[in-house]
Amino acid sequence: MEKAILIRIGEIFLKGKNRDYFYKVLVKNIKNKLHKYNLEIESSNNRIMITSFNIDDEMYIIEDLKKIFGIHSISPCVKVDSNRESIEEYINTLKINTSTFRVTVNRADKRFEINSTEYSKLLGGIILKNNHKVNVDLHSPETEISVDIRNNGTFIFDEKIPCSNGMPVGTSGNGLLLLSGGIDSPVAGYQMAKRGMCLSALHFHSYPYTSVQAREKVIELAKIVSDYTGNIRLYIVSFKKVQEAIHEYCNEEYMITIMRRIMMRIAEIICKQNGLQTIITGESLGQVASQTIESMTVVNKVVENLPVLRPLVAMDKEEIVTIAKKINTFNTSILPYEDCCTVFLPNNPIIKPKLEKVLIEESKLDIDKLVSEALETLEILDTNSI
Ligand code: ATP
Ligand code: MG
Repeated sequence: MEKAILIRIGEIFLKGKNRDYFYKVLVKNIKNKLHKYNLEIESSNNRIMITSFNIDDEMYIIEDLKKIFGIHSISPCVKVDSNRESIEEYINTLKINTSTFRVTVNRADKRFEINSTEYSKLLGGIILKNNHKVNVDLHSPETEISVDIRNNGTFIFDEKIPCSNGMPVGTSGNGLLLLSGGIDSPVAGYQMAKRGMCLSALHFHSYPYTSVQAREKVIELAKIVSDYTGNIRLYIVSFKKVQEAIHEYCNEEYMITIMRRIMMRIAEIICKQNGLQTIITGESLGQVASQTIESMTVVNKVVENLPVLRPLVAMDKEEIVTIAKKINTFNTSILPYEDCCTVFLPNNPIIKPKLEKVLIEESKLDIDKLVSEALETLEILDTNSI
């Protein structure tokens, strides 16, 4: 008898033409995530099984599997030989802690001598003999003992642990997440990765107006998100000179709008240089002055050829916070270090910016020069080497 973990994959991508591709990427992501353990990954017929692991690692392997997008649920199992003696010997030891149960046999190996229905009854009888206070309930049992008989072994389990669902990371293109130190942008990245997008991230700092801790916090956030996505390449750019120039030459009401437009210009260049297909932000409609539809429209205008995705646009702060807590970014996000957006923050930012006026303010700057000087400060970090 040995332990195993059965992995069930999300239904959505089982049907389409790209099924084999999705499946291969998922298996690759599982291998990458579990490479630190000694174990075997068996995959055949859209069924993935983890075997030959150290029992002390089981709990950690389960926690890791819960973070992989594309997995629907998992079941820790006991694996015995596919013969009556071995199966019944194990069933004989079972103690049922609920008042009702059912046995469900799946005879995937048709060479097995008894059919599924008959064998379910027989095994149910053994359990009843050993557990005097329990009853069989075929329709809604509190415990379901599943017995999956295959040619390479029989897998017995009674637990189904829900996982992240979504699509395997790497099956839906790649995007550049504008990552601040706040609550929202890490969640935005998580949501896109859940739909299968591979993430890179771009952070603007304004050192020495912003602190070294603020930078460390963003690196930590990228690292936490990468627990779900695999390696994130983090681009870090100094925004100091851009902010100083806007502060010096432009009407302060337009400061945030112009900052956002310059962030987008830099983001688009980094995307083009690195084959990234979209820019992702953590904006949510109406959350703050710079997140009105008018503001988003004026900001989008500078991005010529890429879509800007805002996966949180229709979410309330409370919903975003719930996800941030679930994915473990919240406690880091609320550390009190300033983001560059709060440096030189105007008292009355414009809520509904007009493009003509923004263009007049921007004409006071040498934007191409500011953008290329900012790009000269570019640093690159990979979360898997931190
Ligand atoms: P967050 O919680 O993500 O910081 P927020 O509610 O504080 O969002 P803003 O400060 O207006 O909102 O930022 C909106 C979006 O702009 C962020 O979600 C992020 O995608 C991007 N952004 C803001 N500051 C930075 C930064 N310093 N570097 C990179 N992107 C940023
Ligand atoms: Mg912020």
